Amino acid sequence: MHHQKEHRCDVLIVGSGAAGLSLALQLAQDLNVIVLSKGPLREGSTLYAQGGIAAVFDENDSIASHVNDTLIAGAGLCEDAAVQFTAENAKTAMEWLIAQGVPFDQYRDDDGVLKYHLTREGGHSHRRILHAADATGRAVQITLVDQVRRHPNIRLLENYNAIDLITDQKLGIDGNQCHGAYVWNRDNEQVEVIAARFVALATGGASKVYLYTSNPDVASGDGIAMAWRAGCRVANMEFNQFHPTSLYHPDAQNYLITEAMRGEGAYLKRPDGTRFMPDFDERAELAPRDIVARAIDFEMKRLGVACVYLDISHQPKDFILEHFPTIYAKCLSVGIDITKQPIPVVPAAHYTCGGVMTNLNGQTDISNLYAIGEVAYTGLHGANRMASNSLLECVVFAQSAARHILQQWPTSKPTPELPDWDESRVSNSDEEVVITHNWHELRMFMWDFVGIVRTTKRLERALHRVELLQREIQEYYRHFRVSNNLLELRNLTMVAELIIKSAMQRKESRGLHYTLDYPEQAAHSKPTVLQPGRD
Ligand SMILES: Cc1cc2nc3c(=O)[nH]c(=O)nc-3n(C[C@H](O)[C@H](O)[C@H](O)COP(=O)(O)OP(=O)(O)OC[C@H]3O[C@@H](n4cnc5c(N)ncnc54)[C@H](O)[C@@H]3O)c2cc1C
Repeated sequence: MHHQKEHRCDVLIVGSGAAGLSLALQLAQDLNVIVLSKGPLREGSTLYAQGGIAAVFDENDSIASHVNDTLIAGAGLCEDAAVQFTAENAKTAMEWLIAQGVPFDQYRDDDGVLKYHLTREGGHSHRRILHAADATGRAVQITLVDQVRRHPNIRLLENYNAIDLITDQKLGIDGNQCHGAYVWNRDNEQVEVIAARFVALATGGASKVYLYTSNPDVASGDGIAMAWRAGCRVANMEFNQFHPTSLYHPDAQNYLITEAMRGEGAYLKRPDGTRFMPDFDERAELAPRDIVARAIDFEMKRLGVACVYLDISHQPKDFILEHFPTIYAKCLSVGIDITKQPIPVVPAAHYTCGGVMTNLNGQTDISNLYAIGEVAYTGLHGANRMASNSLLECVVFAQSAARHILQQWPTSKPTPELPDWDESRVSNSDEEVVITHNWHELRMFMWDFVGIVRTTKRLERALHRVELLQREIQEYYRHFRVSNNLLELRNLTMVAELIIKSAMQRKESRGLHYTLDYPEQAAHSKPTVLQPGRD
């Protein structure tokens, strides 16, 4: 009988962004680690992060201030302990990144002392953002990739999709432990088994559930869906952050137009060339991100148009070229001269605040299963993420999870024999069109009904549709061999359901969740927690 390929390791890490690679490097001195990535090792949201990472480095700044700013951004829903823990450990986490070789920008002060350059971002009351020019994520990702590639205890499996976790429950034995995962080798299209004493999900967010997103293709919520199927609770899935302006062009997906452009005088316009932001807020184009995103969404839905326009062409050409050389070049490459023309833009799903519930060690509800980075809900972000706190969360929780795994290691039990993946009843798909159609439909109705502005009716419509899709996809999944699109679609529909159900439970508007039926903030509020089997 033909057996599937089986890998064994001490720790399996699913995901190779800032969270996954930081964890791998901190464990590899003592343990054998496998890191899985769905595409090339460097691909993930981390690579595209621009702004930077928050940490208290300035003597005039304080941890109390970082905590306070985070709590304000989180609109009353942050877990105090998680915020305090993250802010307190930020500096050590950044020092670790620096020791790995991340080239954060530096300068010499008046006394000739070399210091890290700290920039300031929305919501932060001090300069506390470490950055590497305007491509911080790239600097972090490339540095960490370089380190893991050279480490003898880290095995890298690129082009592998994790499909599902293997738990006691799945094996039909008593207990609540995770033992590994079934994974799909995209190169030879075979399912393989990975047995591990510890498993960490570091799969990033789920913004690809929306039609427009700033995230790369891998952000399909796989880790959230896998953890939920395995029995973990998820929290705050209704809080999805939208960036107000991403380029709307068929040849340039996922390209953000920085908010600094509005800061430098750009106007938002309807297709007929009239401005609309003054109708929504007295700060007009300089209103906070959420208000601008909501106004754009409102105008697009009201007028039934595909995009609005961001226009900076009234500024002198030299000024535009000096401030926005990269955006100028990018837009020109798709035929838009921003010194003469307005830029077509739409808001884009940007960050998933909710996720798999964890404690301060990154532990989930299942023993030996951890979740770190954007996939996790630690309580840090509450109802809205403050800029530059997310990469920070990846590294801080990678450190605490690594510490915890190393402590647990001596008493951990060997992994049992794991059964092969059952492929006896499946055949090759003959109807790929079902997947592509459902994929498009899902992202479209999530955008229209569960996006920036919600109503109870829209959410009900979306729930009805997602339930239909789930049945169809389950049916398909049972009968046909897996493919990347099928696996992602299965996970995205699951995550969509979790977002819709969470949004339906929140009968108020708070942070990133805005519903016309309950436009006010309730006097008392708590995180939305969904439990498998109950919700
Ligand atoms: C354009 C942009 C700008 C941003 N700017 C900032 C910023 O300035 N500061 C900040 O703090 N944050 C920023 N963010 C957010 C931040 O980049 C992310 O939250 C963070 O990088 C997430 O890191 P991660 O390690 O959790 O996941 P990611 O970096 O997204 O990595 C996910 C990994 O999981 C893998 N994976 C997923 N599913 C599977 C599967 N089924 N099987 C195997 N592997 C899988 C992927 O292949 C990938 O390796 C930005 C995000 C974007 C998109």
